[in-house]
Amino acid sequence: MQYRKFGNVYAVRIDKGEEILASLKEFAVKENIAFARVSAIGAVSSFTAGVFDTKTKQYRANEFKGNFEIVSLSGTVDRMNGAYYAHLHMSAGNEKGEVLGGHLNRAVVSATCEMTVTLTDGEIDRCFDEEVGLNLWKF
Ligand code: ZN
Repeated sequence: MQYRKFGNVYAVRIDKGEEILASLKEFAVKENIAFARVSAIGAVSSFTAGVFDTKTKQYRANEFKGNFEIVSLSGTVDRMNGAYYAHLHMSAGNEKGEVLGGHLNRAVVSATCEMTVTLTDGEIDRCFDEEVGLNLWKF
């Protein structure tokens, strides 16, 4: 993973074999990012994406393996109790052009991943919401 900063935007290149969430965390912690918008495209060889079951309040994770093009990867980096936190969703197309996706847990780059991280002024904390069962933005 390599990156450069242009104004308030980082261009982050995540390389073959690297895992996207781990790379983003390594970069964001190093750069001390408090709040930013994340967007990326690229190709992955496997990824795990979840769907939140609002009744059981648990994620059901789906694992996919093969050749995938990232159609969309978006979300935020923010903080929870002062520590790094990321919330990302991804959709990716397979060899038939079928798109699969969800709440991103893990994705391994097969060719490259080109990510932009746009810094936003301010800071948002999160707190666990008992009713929803998720860590929500706290205002
Ligand atoms: Zn989510």
